[in-house]
Amino acid sequence: MSKLFAVIGNPIEQSRSPELHHAFAEKTGVDLEYVRRLAPLDGFEASVRDFFAHQGTGMNVTVPFKEQAFALCDQLTERASIAGAVNTLWMTDGKLYGDNTDGQGLVDAIQTLNWPLDHSQILIIGAGGATRGVIYPLVKAGVHKLVIANRTLARAEQLIAALKHTVPEAQLQACSLDELSGDFDIAINATSASLSGAPLNLPESLHFDHAYEMAYGKASSFLDQAAKRGVPVSDGFGMLAGQAIEAFYIWNGIKPDLKDFI
Ligand code: NDP
Repeated sequence: MSKLFAVIGNPIEQSRSPELHHAFAEKTGVDLEYVRRLAPLDGFEASVRDFFAHQGTGMNVTVPFKEQAFALCDQLTERASIAGAVNTLWMTDGKLYGDNTDGQGLVDAIQTLNWPLDHSQILIIGAGGATRGVIYPLVKAGVHKLVIANRTLARAEQLIAALKHTVPEAQLQACSLDELSGDFDIAINATSASLSGAPLNLPESLHFDHAYEMAYGKASSFLDQAAKRGVPVSDGFGMLAGQAIEAFYIWNGIKPDLKDFI
C-alpha cells in the first residue's frame, strides 16, 4: 500500500507541494500518495488528528497553521523550536513530531545557485514568520553578518532580541526600511509585499551582489529593481522545493537532488 502524505492549510488549492512530492517519488521510486487537505480555520487540530488516525504518514503545514502546528507537537527539532513554527509533521510511537524545513530549504536553494553564504553579509528585508525561520539555518551555513530591515523597526528588534542567543557567532542588526544602506553579498526579500503587489523601493545607497525573493509566481518590484542593477536574481521556488526535499528526506530517508527540480 502506498504511503499517504498531505499538505494542510487554508486556502490550499494553490499549493505546489503535491506536484513536488510526486516528482520526488517518481525520481526515487518511493510509492506514495500526496494530497491537499483544507482545514477549517478553527479545525486544524481535529484535521491533523484525523489524518494520522487514518494511516497518514506525514503532513506539511502551510499558512495560516504553522504556529498552531508548533503548539500541537509533543516533540520538536531544535530548528523548529527556534523558528517557533512547524511545517513538517510525523507520528512516531504515538507522539507527534514537528520540524521546520523552510530555513534549510532557503540555504539549499542559495547553495544550489552557487551564491556565497560562508563568511557572508546578508540583508533580509522583512521580520515575519519566514525571517524567523531562516535566521538560524543561515548562520549555521556560515553567514557572518545579518541585517534585518523591516517597515516596523520594533518587530525586527524584537526578533533579534529573541534569537540572538541561538546564534552567538553572528552579528545581527536591525534597521528600518528608511535607513537601508550598505554593501551585502545577498539581499533577501522576506516581506509579503509581492503577494499584495505593493512596491518595495530600494534606495541608491543600498548595494548587493545577488537578490533572492522568497515569494514565487508573482511580480516582484524587488526583483525588478535588482535585475535593473544587473545582479543575479532568483524567486522563491527553489526554497519551496528545498523545504519539500528536506521533508521528503525526514519521512522517506532518501534525499532527491534539488538541482533536478529547479
Ligand atoms: P508575515 O506576514 O509573517 O510577515 C510579512 C512581512 O512583510 C512583515 O515583516 C511586514 O512588515 C512585511 N511587509 C508586508 N507588506 C509590506 C510592504 N508593503 N512593504 C514593506 N514591508 C511589508 O509573512 P511571512 O514571513 O510568512 O512570509 C513572507 C514572504 O515569504 C511571503 O512572500 C511568503 O510567500 C514567502 N515565503 C516563501 C516560502 C518559500 O518556500 N518560498 C516559505 C515561507 C514564506 P511589518 O512587520 O511592518 O508589517
